[in-house]
Amino acid sequence: MMLPWLNPARAGALLDALRERILVLDGAMGTMIQQHGLQEDDYRGERFAHGYDALYATHGHAHGPGCGCGHDQKGNNDLLTLTRPDVIAAIHRAYLEAGADLVETNTFNSTAIALADYGLSHLARELNQAGARLARGVCDAVEAQDPARPRFAVGVLGPTNRTASISPDVNRPGHRAVTFDELRDAYRDAAEGLLDGGADVLMVETVFDTLNAKAALFAIEEAFDARGARVPVMVSGTITDASGRTLSGQTAEAFWYSVAHARPVAIGLNCALGARELRVHVDALAQVADTHVSCHPNAGLPNAFGGYDETPEDMARVLGEFGRAGLLNLVGGCCGTTPAHIAAIAEAMRGVRPRVVPALAPLPSGGSGGSGRGEVEPDRALDPAPPPPNLSLHAQGEEQNA
Ligand SMILES: [Zn+2]
Ligand SMILES: [Zn+2]
Repeated sequence: MMLPWLNPARAGALLDALRERILVLDGAMGTMIQQHGLQEDDYRGERFAHGYDALYATHGHAHGPGCGCGHDQKGNNDLLTLTRPDVIAAIHRAYLEAGADLVETNTFNSTAIALADYGLSHLARELNQAGARLARGVCDAVEAQDPARPRFAVGVLGPTNRTASISPDVNRPGHRAVTFDELRDAYRDAAEGLLDGGADVLMVETVFDTLNAKAALFAIEEAFDARGARVPVMVSGTITDASGRTLSGQTAEAFWYSVAHARPVAIGLNCALGARELRVHVDALAQVADTHVSCHPNAGLPNAFGGYDETPEDMARVLGEFGRAGLLNLVGGCCGTTPAHIAAIAEAMRGVRPRVVPALAPLPSGGSGGSGRGEVEPDRALDPAPPPPNLSLHAQGEEQNA
């Protein structure tokens, strides 16, 4: 049984907009932060002036000179939500003004696991709540000037910097740097913060390890159960190698079958590759997924200096073809993209009809790997099985999508 919407008006507005047009996601946060040339002091602000949180210490500890709690914070982009909210709000606003319908919260690394690198694990819930509140506030301000068009704050749950299904040590193949339950706890905390802060949607983004994503989806369901209400969930995976698979070895179709049990409002691909390289994989998702399809690629493949070279016009041309081919319901940009890219992409989608979500017959019992807790159906673990005989791919009227 599906829980009711936490915010029925916003969820309804999103589903209505998805029926009408291809919705535009924002572009990169990191790329835009880089342009501000922020220094260590900007990251720290007053509260973190000594490299630790002056408002927090473990029980019995008193911070002081040489107490050892200080960490460099430059590069901890999510901390800027608290220390330079002006910068983050301006980036959200620039994307909305460029034509984005949805902005992603500045919370990609705001889990206790990823924040451990900066000695700020305790800050996860606060960063998620503040990140969602900031993004939602900018959406409110832009909506007030243009009430006909709703804007949405997408609460982002990143992959963390650890992988649950692969050993980081070639000499200890059975070793795992993180467990499912550690990930679940961290994602639960993050999801609660995002919901408290007013996120309209939750997105499990840049999934390179499906087991990490399953932990996130499990935690999200727990958070929904505790509230007795849900928000729409999006899932976006990352193809990390030339054979067209995620780091945990799945094709795009197999990835979809692994997360379909969560009934996401959208399934998609982002990061690692440019739009051209993603086309075949987005096409594969568009064939098998009975939900909306999203794509937010990087601005091409990284150049020799780790930068991205595709111009707004390059990206808009390639993604415009995706749209006309009927592959897209949501589109935006990842690494290297800017408001100029999003403006060009939004222009390319103008008047292009969204992909019609196909109505698929249910898979045979046991066929869609529905336990949700870690295990992946063996036959679908890496490559999807051929479609079962009762899986009929026939597009029905758009009014049936809801
Ligand atoms: Zn200390
Ligand atoms: Zn990216």
